Amino acid sequence: KSKQNDKNRFHFYAREMQCDALKRMQIEADLRMALAHDEFTLEYQPIVAADSGELFGAEALIRWAHPQLGAVSPADFVPVAEDSGLIVPIGAWVLREAVRQMHAWRLLGHALPHLAVNVSGVQFRDPALPELVAEVMDGYAVASGALTLEICESVMVDANSATEKRMRALKEQGVAYSLDDFGTGFSSLSYLKRFPVDIVKIDRSFVRDCPDDRSDAHLVAAIINMAHSLDLKVVAEGVETQAQADFLRERGCDYLQGYLIAKPLRAEAFEGLLCRRVPQAGRAGLALAAAG
Ligand code: C2E
Ligand code: MG
Ligand code: MG
Ligand code: MG
Repeated sequence: KSKQNDKNRFHFYAREMQCDALKRMQIEADLRMALAHDEFTLEYQPIVAADSGELFGAEALIRWAHPQLGAVSPADFVPVAEDSGLIVPIGAWVLREAVRQMHAWRLLGHALPHLAVNVSGVQFRDPALPELVAEVMDGYAVASGALTLEICESVMVDANSATEKRMRALKEQGVAYSLDDFGTGFSSLSYLKRFPVDIVKIDRSFVRDCPDDRSDAHLVAAIINMAHSLDLKVVAEGVETQAQADFLRERGCDYLQGYLIAKPLRAEAFEGLLCRRVPQAGRAGLALAAAG
């Protein structure tokens, strides 16, 4: 009987896997067309100073409007793009488009101080990346330190000396680094010292149950202290409640990002927020501007 159950279970999994594999193949095939057909856009999510609420910068997030499926989440297609290598041309598009937009805002007189772009590990290892970064930074006169590459811990964990050299070379070209989803990977604290990281982003999963969950609250406070002792700035991701924001500010977290401040916004909506920006309006002002 138990053999029979196992067999059924096997069939069940096999069918699921086949479905999954088909779905991935479909996504991969469609991803190949998506760039040429202009199906990608970027949204921009504000990052604000935890104490004053002033706009620090934004994170660019890719969006895919699939002609049949509608919006496909990056959580679903970025892994497929990574496996197939398509993340390299897609990532290049993201970088060009984000920097072009930052330049356009500057021309309008609404300079965005910092723009963060997600860079996949696959893209980071691409030999053409330094040239691409140089092209966009020169082409759009990006100030040193205004462009941040968000990488995840795996980039450093898999790092050989070539990756480390590349990180330093790009840093000399003027990019900053922020370590995305911090705490979810397997990096040791020594990586934070060894690699030229500027910002640590505390993963949403640790912020979610703060401040009520005591162990998460302690963990978050410890990450902030540890980062500060290494001279790094800290961004908290996924801040959804005022209680989380208050807790993070009290613990000395530098910057906040999350639905409490604003959801990721299309360029036009983000521009509205940039225009209405008045420094003394502070936290409440920005939240209002975004909601209104
Ligand atoms: P991430 O880089 O950690 O981005 C933050 C994610 O959290 C975004 O999801 C954002 O919409 C979401 N988020 C922000 N605030 C909140 C909040 O308060 N609550 C909740 N529940 N979620 C919040 P998104 O846009 O779906 O992106 C998912 C992931 O896909 C990103 O995680 C990143 O790893 C990847 N990704 C997105 N855009 C790009 C890109 O241009 N290139 C690459 N390589 N990866 C990207
Ligand atoms: Mg990110
Ligand atoms: Mg993140
Ligand atoms: Mg995250």
